[in-house]
Amino acid sequence: MVQQKLELGRYANFIASEWISPSTGKYYTRENPATLEPLAELPSSGRDDVNHAVEAAREAFEKSDWATRRPAERARALLKLAQIIREESDRLARILTLENGKPLKFAKGEFIFTADVFEFYAGLARQVMGESYQNSSQIYSIASKEPVGVCGMITPWNFPISLLAWKLAPALAVGCTVVVKPSSYTTAITFEFLKLFERVQEIPKGVVNCVSGPGSVVGMELVRHKDVNKIGFTGETGTGKVIMQNAAMSLKRVSLECGGKCPNIVFEDADMNKALPGAVWGAFRNSGQVCTAGSRLLVQESIYDEFMEKFVEKTKEMKVGNGLEPDVVLGPLISKDQLEKVLQYVEIGKQEGAKVLYGGRRLSEKGYFMEPTIFVDADNSMRISQEEIFGPTVTVIKFRDEEEAVKIANDTVYGLAAALWTNNLQRAMRVSSQLKAGTVWVNTYADLYPEMPFGGYKESGLGRELGREGLEEYLETKHINFDMRPQVVMWR
Ligand code: NAD
Repeated sequence: MVQQKLELGRYANFIASEWISPSTGKYYTRENPATLEPLAELPSSGRDDVNHAVEAAREAFEKSDWATRRPAERARALLKLAQIIREESDRLARILTLENGKPLKFAKGEFIFTADVFEFYAGLARQVMGESYQNSSQIYSIASKEPVGVCGMITPWNFPISLLAWKLAPALAVGCTVVVKPSSYTTAITFEFLKLFERVQEIPKGVVNCVSGPGSVVGMELVRHKDVNKIGFTGETGTGKVIMQNAAMSLKRVSLECGGKCPNIVFEDADMNKALPGAVWGAFRNSGQVCTAGSRLLVQESIYDEFMEKFVEKTKEMKVGNGLEPDVVLGPLISKDQLEKVLQYVEIGKQEGAKVLYGGRRLSEKGYFMEPTIFVDADNSMRISQEEIFGPTVTVIKFRDEEEAVKIANDTVYGLAAALWTNNLQRAMRVSSQLKAGTVWVNTYADLYPEMPFGGYKESGLGRELGREGLEEYLETKHINFDMRPQVVMWR
């Protein structure tokens, strides 16, 4: 059989600023999900590679001056990196589209957001403030902040670079060192992104390392490693639980950004010019492969028929195709497994008694393309309402009044995000405060800012990323007490 040429070639692990072949000698092939052509070969690493990367990160933490240098110097290094990310965003966006499938303009947006996150945390690097307390004129206390140490970062494939940046930027801002374990579906773009670090001489070798391979091997080794102080994870809730259990063996710090089944509530007094595109975009952006997808659309019964007619029309307008083509809004799903999983949910939905109002089918044999899919005649107890499908599907549920909307919205194990559409300010405030979710959008969907915290209630996660709280996740607090009294005083 003739081996097809790989557009991106073969990659190696990135350890202590060197590109190193995996100790296992094994590689796997990643395909382009839009064309099914082989794209890149990536290391399928093992335990020795993780040990090597953790040693490099530990050495950089203890022996380089990264953690101890002036914050302003770390800030300057991050600003330089952000500038390079902006300059390289077109080139990198294309690689992200090839590997992940998302349309080019959204791929580019991911890099611009990433640069913004690094710029934000460069600013915050200079504002890591502890507290002080004067117990008496001779006793003085400081609560000082220190970097948590060596951090493992385990990332998903849906926003592989921005979700890495949400961890990497605050960790580097405070002086931590890092070992990254990317999703096996988006490893090439992660290595391409990390190549940019080689151009920032101010960041010492070993501060950022990356080892690729299966989550159950490379990810698990990182989680169990005694010399890793903290794990920052984004992925499925089930994986997050396994990580938390294993991190418990060494009481490792963890922050977990996990799954969602987010309610998007349209009240009868909403501005339909906003609510309609907002609901379509909320449900289907990134082909529904979004933890904050508005995958449960709750529509008030008084406007239901009219709203749904227009919702279907707007859904039909979305062009599905290869993300490199102009005007494409929805790219392919990430993999064959993911496509099969979503198609299986279409069958589950039908068996449960829901009706597919639009979509439900694979679109082409060549790539993993699927029609945006709308389930109606559904209730909130169905699996298609409770389980994260992670594809271009939305389950539409009718509600009578505000009380019922809140009850349905909160009736899930998840609590990542929610949205509501209304022109009534009192209602907006009342409902937002009743929703059990880490983010609530009012008359908008999916807006996130580096300045504001993001994370989940309930089984959607633990801890927060972005904002000041995102920085705290990478800090330890130490109380230092100075006693200037002439004699030792036995405490009470
Ligand atoms: P996943 O849980 O399958 O994988 C995430 C990462 O964990 C990958 O790098 C994977 O290799 C690794 N991993 C898998 N098993 C592991 C183990 N036993 N030990 C250590 N690491 C392991 O998730 P995914 O399919 O890549 O991403 C989709 C999921 O991510 C969805 O559930 C989505 O909701 C969630 N997500 C959450 C957020 C958020 O911010 N809350 C954002 C994006 C995606």
